[in-house]
Amino acid sequence: MRKRELMLLASRSYTDEEQTELISAINFAIEKHKGQKRKSGEAFVTHPLAVAGILIDWGLDIDTVLAGVLHDTVEDTETSLPTIENLFGRDVAFLVDGVTKVSQARSGMRDLSSYLPATKDNLTKLLIAVGQDVRVIIIKLADRLHNMQTLQHLSREKQLKIARETLEVFAPLADRLNMGRVRVQLEELAFSYLEPKEFKRLQRVMKDRLGKSHRKLARVRHDVDKKLTEESIDHQMDGRIKSVYSLYKKLQKVDSIDDIYDLIALRIIVEDAETCYRVLGIIHAMYRPMVNRIKDYIARPKPNGYQSLHTTIITENEQIVEFQIRTATMHDYAERGLAASFHYNEQKLTDAYRKGHIAAMPADLAWISQLQEVAAQVSEGKDADLERLKVDLFGNRIFVYSPKGDLYDMPDGAFPLDYAYRIHSDIGRQAAGFRVNGKMVAFDRTLQHGDVVEVITKRNAQPRPDWLELVITRHARDKLRAQLKRT
Ligand code: MN
Repeated sequence: MRKRELMLLASRSYTDEEQTELISAINFAIEKHKGQKRKSGEAFVTHPLAVAGILIDWGLDIDTVLAGVLHDTVEDTETSLPTIENLFGRDVAFLVDGVTKVSQARSGMRDLSSYLPATKDNLTKLLIAVGQDVRVIIIKLADRLHNMQTLQHLSREKQLKIARETLEVFAPLADRLNMGRVRVQLEELAFSYLEPKEFKRLQRVMKDRLGKSHRKLARVRHDVDKKLTEESIDHQMDGRIKSVYSLYKKLQKVDSIDDIYDLIALRIIVEDAETCYRVLGIIHAMYRPMVNRIKDYIARPKPNGYQSLHTTIITENEQIVEFQIRTATMHDYAERGLAASFHYNEQKLTDAYRKGHIAAMPADLAWISQLQEVAAQVSEGKDADLERLKVDLFGNRIFVYSPKGDLYDMPDGAFPLDYAYRIHSDIGRQAAGFRVNGKMVAFDRTLQHGDVVEVITKRNAQPRPDWLELVITRHARDKLRAQLKRT
């Protein structure tokens, strides 16, 4: 992506003032990344510009786009965060800082290649920890998408590693944020690298099938279209084709491709929720519905906020067709998910919400609970009981890092000694001082979210009784008490 292309893209969505800011961010990034190259041989700056382009495409607010342009400057050049803050303001600096922290902590995570559940869990927790502002995660998703789109330039080994991580961590994250379009893009790309032969085979199978059913489907589509027009229902209809990866997953659960009813679905988009139900009724009057395949995700949205009516019908010629019926706003939210709540034209979405077009609009802090669900689901590797982890994993907890980038969640108000005992009881016992974010601090300095904490130990140091006032976790207190008894 080049500067001119990006500006052209931006010119449609942002004010003149915002575009001026964007130009200075682009110039800044070009200057800072000067001389750096990507594996493809292209100038490095093409990457952050492409990431910004993706964020514009997703309709994000200007601060997020600026942070996209700048997202690698602190990590990969000598740029400091205060510089970013001076030039582009606090919000942009906050976002860049979040993205940088993810990268830094990750480079400290060893053994990523083995993909033990613990690693996956750690990465997810990490994303959530720094994702104090969900836009940090959205930027990481855009970053990952562009890296997947340019994966051909890396070694096979790296391709596999990155593709697997994309499938295990980033695609589920996108799903939990209801960013359906991104999820599918990530899954298709990752799958095409992980199982190239299977990917090509299924693509052919799909093409074959679609060729056969297209004509039959055209008939159904025509009939429904005509009927809705007769009933004066304003609507748009299009076909949605199942992704190769979701076909692959489905095929592992059923015996044959003939048992999959939603290879193609017809999607009908109408004005409001009430009309969705009317359309459902009309379709059921025209064809025989498969009763156990009627889903009302409008009354009961999926946990990620997805809303739509689904039904599968059987035509007179025994053809099976799935319909998805929803409003334009529900459709937009299904495609862009949480990204939709940071729209450059926020007014529009708020209006839609007020008019009741969408029920599951993330309120101010609703994204926090969305993220909690991500953690729960991914860490358990299945559709988990969301309620459980939600409360105890993240209720009043902060995340701190070891100097190596390992992540520890601590209760809010914890002291450095709590952290030391958390690492190891011997580290606690021998604690002689603490360095937080590179500076020496007193024992009674409470830890803050995002702190990097280093324990300075002395081999012959002994715990002291007054330390009992300087710990708040039960674990630290128990260990300390036991040690005090022994001395
Ligand atoms: Mn990047």
